[in-house]
Amino acid sequence: MAASMCPSCKAKSFELKLIRPENSAVDICFIQCSKCGRVIGITDAVNIPAILKAHGELLNETRGLLRELKSFIEAK
Ligand SMILES: [Zn+2]
Repeated sequence: MAASMCPSCKAKSFELKLIRPENSAVDICFIQCSKCGRVIGITDAVNIPAILKAHGELLNETRGLLRELKSFIEAK
């Protein structure tokens, strides 16, 4: 796989920079060269798939706890 490269300085490392554009109510992330700062892309500040995965794991944990509680109550 080819290595991604900054079109300005040819560096091969990048970073996310959280910003709030003027007159905006939401944050976004710049994907920028970690050497010269040239912005090469943008992405949402909120990672929706990661949030959904975390909520799914929490839901499964809650479901397990409810099953245990139900078993405990029914055993009485
Ligand atoms: Zn650069």
